[in-house]
Order: sequence, then structure tokens, then C-alpha cells
Amino acid sequence: MFESAYAVVHMDGGETVTAKCLLIATGADYRRLGVEGCDRFEGRGVYYAATIAEGQLCRGSQAIVVGGGNSAGQAAVFLSGQARKVLLLIRGDDLYKNMSSYLAKRIEQTPNIELFYNTAIRRMNGDTHLESVDIVDQTTGQERTVAVSCVFSFIGAEPRTAWLPAEIERDEKGFVQTGAALARSRYWTSVRQPFLLETSRMGVFAAGDVRSGSVKRVASAVGEGAMAVQFVHECLTHM
Ligand SMILES: Cc1cc2nc3c(=O)[nH]c(=O)nc-3n(C[C@H](O)[C@H](O)[C@H](O)COP(=O)(O)OP(=O)(O)OC[C@H]3O[C@@H](n4cnc5c(N)ncnc54)[C@H](O)[C@@H]3O)c2cc1C
Repeated sequence: MFESAYAVVHMDGGETVTAKCLLIATGADYRRLGVEGCDRFEGRGVYYAATIAEGQLCRGSQAIVVGGGNSAGQAAVFLSGQARKVLLLIRGDDLYKNMSSYLAKRIEQTPNIELFYNTAIRRMNGDTHLESVDIVDQTTGQERTVAVSCVFSFIGAEPRTAWLPAEIERDEKGFVQTGAALARSRYWTSVRQPFLLETSRMGVFAAGDVRSGSVKRVASAVGEGAMAVQFVHECLTHM
């Protein structure tokens, strides 16, 4: 909550902290696939990001990407340049439903991406590393086992923002919005523009996974945290 220019944070233990500036860095909960074997193979075949590092892990072999949104689409396109073949598993029957059409078209035109509609993973198998997964066609119930050493999960994340008051504007998925466009917010009270990582409330900043549009990587979360310190200094001199 806010009292005049100050943010007041109420702790679980009953204490309150009042501050001119506040940095929100509460992150997000990544949705897990929740299938047998998934926890066991996290970091050993199950990944939540597709960068050059993960790309190298599936070079020349087969990889599975799960998800129907833009993150999954971008990962599939990127990995198609590394893996021999990418199997893209989506729950529904329409690739264009949750993905930008330019990306969906690109996927359809990429010869080594195979699309599996209405398909989910049922089980993950292996010893110390992922070796295969059982996938199921949810319309027919037909199961098959695919030999694969990498599964990339892009099925969304829930921001930890339920504790925030209405004055902190969020996007349609609940991630905290930041930046100059918030000068138009009804909660923005200063004549200056919000700083890059500043929220709709002057002096309140957001960094890392919780922030709308952030890259969702450790390095960028740390970098944003460091940038926020600089903005806090500037904000205090303008107050
Ligand atoms: C399984 C998995 C694997 C990943 N692998 C990689 C990888 O290999 N490389 C990579 O770069 N990124 C990876 N990521 C993403 C990376 O973990 C995040 O991008 C990064 O941790 C974001 O940092 P953050 O500080 O924004 O949030 P977090 O690391 O989530 O930190 C948020 C902190 O805030 C605390 N918190 C939450 N709510 C409250 C509250 N109300 N009050 C007080 N404290 C609160 C949480 O307990 C937590 O400690 C992975 C993520 C997952 C889930």
C-alpha cells in the first residue's frame, strides 16, 4: 500500500517497512509439465530455456519443444538450426491460436520441425539422463515412444504479483509493467517520465522475471537489478 509519497510493505510477521523507493524482484513460477520423470530430469534433459548453451546439447540429435506460444515457437525455430529434428508438441489443433502468424508460418516452412497437434508428454524415461519420452495423441489416445535427449518446456509462467496493490499496473498475464509508456497511467503522479524499470507508481521499480517483457534469464535478472540501483539513485535526487 502507499501513504503519500511512500511505499509501505507489510511483512508476514506483522512488521511494516516504509520506503521512498522499492524494488519488486519476486520472480515467477514456471509451469512444470507435471509428468512422471520430469523433476528427475530437470537440467539433465528437461530445460526451460533454449539458448546457444542448450542448443549445443541437442546438436545433431532429436529435440522436443512443448508449448503453443511465441516462446515455444522461437525456441523451435532456433533449435531447428542445431538439432537434426525438432518435434513441436501443442495441446490444441491450431498453431495460429496463440502464436504470431509470422512465426507459425516459419515453423510450417521449416523442413526439420515436425508438428504434433493435440499431443502431450505422458512419461519421461532414462537412467541418469533423459533418453526417451512417451507422447500421447489426446484425440485418439494413441501412445508412442520417442528417443530424445532434450525436452524444452515453454508452457508459461505465473508472476508472483498477487501481493501487489492496484497502483502497480500489470499486463494481461500479471507481469509488472515498467517504462515511459506508464506516464499515461492514472497512478503516475510525476511530471517526469518513468525510468526504464520504473512502474506506474513513482519510486517503485521492477526487475527480473516479474517484469513484463523481461528476458527470463539469470543474467538479465541480475543486470536489471543492477540497473535498478542506478535508477533509484536518480529517482531520489528528483524527489
Ligand atoms: C527449472 C528452471 C531452470 C532454469 N534454468 C535457467 C538457466 O539454465 N539459465 C538461466 O539463465 N535461467 C534459467 N532459468 C530462469 C531463471 O531461474 C530466472 O530467469 C531467474 O531466476 C530470475 O531471477 P529473479 O530474481 O527475477 O527471480 P527468482 O530467481 O524467481 O527470485 C525471486 C525471489 O523472490 C522471492 N519471493 C517471491 N515472492 C516473494 C514475496 N512476496 N516476498 C518476499 N520474497 C518473495 C522468491 O522466494 C525468490 O527467492 C530457469 C528457471 C527454472 C524454473
